[in-house]
Amino acid sequence: MSDRYAVIGNPIGHTKSPLIHRSFAKATGQDIEYGAIEGSLERFSDDVHAFRKAGGLGLNVTAPFKLQALALATERLERAELAGATNALKFEGDRIIADNFDGVGLTRDIQSNLGFSLKGARMLVLGSGGAVRGALLPFLAQQPAELVLANRTLSKADDLAAQFAVHGPLRACAYADLAGERFDIVINGTSASLKAELPPVPAEALQNATLAYELAYGKGLTPFLRLAQNAGVPKLADGVGMLVEQAAEAFLWWRGVRPDTRAVIERMTIPLA
Ligand code: NDP
Repeated sequence: MSDRYAVIGNPIGHTKSPLIHRSFAKATGQDIEYGAIEGSLERFSDDVHAFRKAGGLGLNVTAPFKLQALALATERLERAELAGATNALKFEGDRIIADNFDGVGLTRDIQSNLGFSLKGARMLVLGSGGAVRGALLPFLAQQPAELVLANRTLSKADDLAAQFAVHGPLRACAYADLAGERFDIVINGTSASLKAELPPVPAEALQNATLAYELAYGKGLTPFLRLAQNAGVPKLADGVGMLVEQAAEAFLWWRGVRPDTRAVIERMTIPLA
């Protein structure tokens, strides 16, 4: 019987994870089965234990279960602990080990795939939700010149800045206070694009930027990317590379083999314009 893995989330119908992991398995000659589980908040723990008892070796975890999955873990690796959320679980006997590959996947996409170095860059990150939490440590590990965190609810950005500033030059800022500031790389980590909304970032903050990155994927030219395009930002990207790279990190963690991501990203990329 093949080794079993799955992604758990709700809704889960739109998930690309089975497609990505099956492509990785085929390309690396790994004999795995990868499914999708529609979880529920009330049954989450039962669903995970049932999957484990049926021989499951690992789960990708997506919204809205990233916090619950962390609570269920018997061991939390540093990235998951600091992010306060997990997007991948590994089962070894009675152990449930939690990690978080969202931030490392995003960092890898920006640096290895898109070719932008975070070292010495002035970075602006919009949002202070789960995805941004997971990205702060990997970002700061690359030694940017400064990372400014803007959020609609400023207190959340303040809390994250207080927690993560020990790892590098991080400061929180209200959107209104960004006027007059310039950045090299601007990342939209809000969920505004899922509702076709624009976070209230002043266009001038994008004027000198060389990269505008949208974490949401498959949405085409979002209001944020359109703002960046109008501000003359030369490179626009969405989160499809992040999605594939975090999957590759989980695959490596589970199987001990790093899959090549290029072909999968190319196949999944929808032109932005
Ligand atoms: P959360 O719900 O945890 O956080 C949402 C964030 O967006 C909050 O900071 C919220 O601000 C902000 N926000 C929402 N609407 C607006 C708005 N209209 N204007 C300004 N700010 C707004 O979401 P996640 O962190 O889980 O996800 C964020 C994005 O990242 C989503 O688009 C998601 O699809 C994407 N994502 C992509 C992944 C990938 O692999 N490519 C992986 C994970 C996420 P406030 O605190 O004020 O409410």
